[in-house]
Amino acid sequence: MRQGLSETEAATRLAKDGPNALSKPKRRSPFRLILDVMQEPMLALLLGGGVIYLILGNRTEALVLLAFACLSIGITFAQEARSEHVLAALRDLTNPQAYVIRAGIRRKIDAAQLVIGDVIALSEGDRVPADATLIGRVTVDESLLTGEAVPLRKSFDATTAENTKIYAGTLIVAGDSLATVTATGPRSQIGQIGTSWSLLETETPHLQSQLQRLVFWFALAGGAVSVAVVLMDGLLRGGDWLAALLAGISVGMAMLPEEFPMVLTVFMAMGAWRISRVNVLTRRAAAIESLGAASVLCTDKTGTLTQNQMTIISLQPLGGQVYGPTNMTPDLIELAQSGTRACQIAPFDPMEKAFHAQSPLGAGTLIRSYPFTPSLFAMTQVWQQGTQMTAYAKGAPEAIATLCGLSVDSASIEVMAKQGQRVLAIAVAPVGDLPDDQTGFKFRYLGLIGLVDPLRATVPDAVARCLSAGIRVIMMTGDHPVTALAIAQAAGLIANQAITGEMLSQMKDAALQKALAGANVFARITPAQKLRIVQALKSMGAIVAMTGDGVNDAPSLKAAQIGIAMGKRGTDVAREAADIVLLQDDFAAIVTTIALGRRIYDNLRKAMRFILAVHVPIAGLALLPLILGAPLLFGPIHIAFIEMIIDPVCALVFEAEEDEAGLMTRPPRAIDAPLFSTATILWSMAQGIIALGAVVALYLTAQGLPTDQTRVLVFVALVLVIFVLVLVNRRRSPSLIGALSKHNQALGIITLIITALMGAVIAFPPLRGLFGFELPNAVWWTGPPLVAAAVMMSLEGIKAVQLRQV
Ligand code: ADP
Ligand code: MG
Repeated sequence: MRQGLSETEAATRLAKDGPNALSKPKRRSPFRLILDVMQEPMLALLLGGGVIYLILGNRTEALVLLAFACLSIGITFAQEARSEHVLAALRDLTNPQAYVIRAGIRRKIDAAQLVIGDVIALSEGDRVPADATLIGRVTVDESLLTGEAVPLRKSFDATTAENTKIYAGTLIVAGDSLATVTATGPRSQIGQIGTSWSLLETETPHLQSQLQRLVFWFALAGGAVSVAVVLMDGLLRGGDWLAALLAGISVGMAMLPEEFPMVLTVFMAMGAWRISRVNVLTRRAAAIESLGAASVLCTDKTGTLTQNQMTIISLQPLGGQVYGPTNMTPDLIELAQSGTRACQIAPFDPMEKAFHAQSPLGAGTLIRSYPFTPSLFAMTQVWQQGTQMTAYAKGAPEAIATLCGLSVDSASIEVMAKQGQRVLAIAVAPVGDLPDDQTGFKFRYLGLIGLVDPLRATVPDAVARCLSAGIRVIMMTGDHPVTALAIAQAAGLIANQAITGEMLSQMKDAALQKALAGANVFARITPAQKLRIVQALKSMGAIVAMTGDGVNDAPSLKAAQIGIAMGKRGTDVAREAADIVLLQDDFAAIVTTIALGRRIYDNLRKAMRFILAVHVPIAGLALLPLILGAPLLFGPIHIAFIEMIIDPVCALVFEAEEDEAGLMTRPPRAIDAPLFSTATILWSMAQGIIALGAVVALYLTAQGLPTDQTRVLVFVALVLVIFVLVLVNRRRSPSLIGALSKHNQALGIITLIITALMGAVIAFPPLRGLFGFELPNAVWWTGPPLVAAAVMMSLEGIKAVQLRQV
């Protein structure tokens, strides 16, 4: 039984039965996708324009608009596929893992590799990876399987109960046990129901709702203006309704803000991808938005700040002095070996591994385990040696002292704890009958054992970055206050005192809030108290990021705006409750991710400002000739070209924009700060109006020219001005040189593409004809660059004078 299958046998079975995986979650069907795409107003306008051109007999124009319509569908499809692809890749990384025993060796594998007959190890917090028959005793929550919202707890005990079958997808809430796999993948219960429990959510509520409102108003305004244009133009031109409709369609396209949602989707998908490159998974896109606003980071100690690689470094028998682990006397050997007997037989917990490394298990049979619980920080195991049964306990010194009926010897504990050691006490008891819980034994206190767990090398630096970025770092640990303070100080936290769980339980909410104003270290904290701290911080207006790994951390992870689970050490439940998952469990990665969150949000705002600004000259130029009663300057083709190619491509430059100076030295942004403040809108509008004014100046100057020549000049000027708007909005700082010298590969590529496109439209006669262009005299070509230069200089000038802060 302990041996499990051999690797070759497992491989054969895997080949025969297939992987232990459920089918991928359903995608939108292509038909559904087409339906969705069809509802895009841009597409309707393009198709409408195409039909009118067909009626007018302009087949080429009609075809071009149809081509744009296809392009629009293509882009939507490509984007959909790309996001889907990114998400699927991320999902693969969150694949469930399982502990399996094969050929006598226990290892962690992809749950998909499990086969029937595998022996798996289940412990508290695990999702059961396949249907299995239980060997020990556990408590299971079956609510996922039954579809009920409330936890459905069921106890299983292989030694007494008849029914020992547990199902894939259910959750181990307490206990640990081995089990033999009986059904995998689609043949498991959950596979037959067809549910999956590792879905990635993709909504971004806050930003999305802000944008939806904006898009709504934009679209409404665009619609109203377009209708007005059609009516006015139709009446003025004396009933040339088709031409009036075309003009209306151009104006509608020019005002349609379809780039806003597109930019949001692209930036979020790309953002999740960028974050994944620092080994952090985004489970909820909304977390990217909150990350940039995080103001408090609550972190656990063991494994996040420290390496979770423990070694026994000191031993102290009751009443004796502290010894190192090198010269072991008989009483030290008894102390260490009793500690090992209070550990799991094949442990994964680094602390228990340290016990096994120090002192191997002697002979004997394990009779019963009393697991570690948040209510008593200790665990006990009963062993049989010959005819004699003995209970061995290890745990927090206070807990063991309670079990022994003693008071705690704080002085000796603090000697070790001051050096950052985790201190455990060990006790033994003779056993007659097995009691229901650990308190039923008559324990004898043996002594203390101190373990070191070195700080991660990157931590002090990462903590310093947080502090300079205005993010408070709070440690919440189950460890002893003195140990906690020692580690906190080594990590660079501002820590003079620790608040213990006991103190916390005495505090009312108001007192807790007061204490939270100053304290950054919480020790001997239970998971339920973590939740209280998170809620208190939230009610104080903080945006809380918090790490967690245990089953009981799930509620706090959910409560925090940004729940962070550990990929290596964490339980499945913690991962499911979290918004992001650290694949390497490393504190420094959190800080890098927060910096990325800030950068992504910055860039999103830059892109949005650009889009807002750019619509002013486009819409203005579509409208102006109509107002002036001049010949139509831009038709649907021009507008579609600008709105669908030039603009979106330009917006992408912002996605690749690097950190602003001061990204991590400024305080976090307010979470409810609108994406578009009044100041932002005014600045964008001002940019747009200046850009429009400059192009209009050229338009008016060129009135003497044939319309087709004016058109090409104004068109080129418009594209150049759009480009200027990209440059101006790239950086907050007013220094243009600074902006230009900042590397941005996307900008280079996009400059090339746009130059090539413009070159083709101007130099290639058939395209020129299509766009209604005619080449003016060489002198006139100085016009568009002059316009661009003027816009650039005025905007940079304004930026330099006062608008640094917008
Ligand atoms: P941390 O916040 O450092 O991860 P835990 O909540 O895991 O702390 O543990 C809190 C305390 O409980 C430890 O300081 C230790 O005294 C005790 N403890 C933790 N794990 C075990 C264990 N496996 N056996 C006995 N005691 C334990
Ligand atoms: Mg722990």
